[in-house]
Amino acid sequence: MLFENVNRLLARTTQTAVVYECRRCGTSVDEDTERCPECDAEAIVRHRIS
Ligand SMILES: [Zn+2]
Repeated sequence: MLFENVNRLLARTTQTAVVYECRRCGTSVDEDTERCPECDAEAIVRHRIS
C-alpha cells in the first residue's frame, strides 16, 4: 500500500507540465496561442513546472 503511494508520487513529480500565460496580465492560454485573448498582448511566456 505504501509502495503504491510512493510510486504515484514519483510519477507525478517526474511528469513535466508546461504552462503558457500572458506576460502582461497573467492569463493562461493554449500552447499555440500567440496573442493574449484578454489584453491583446503578444507576450506569451512559457513556464515549465517540474
Ligand atoms: Zn494578457
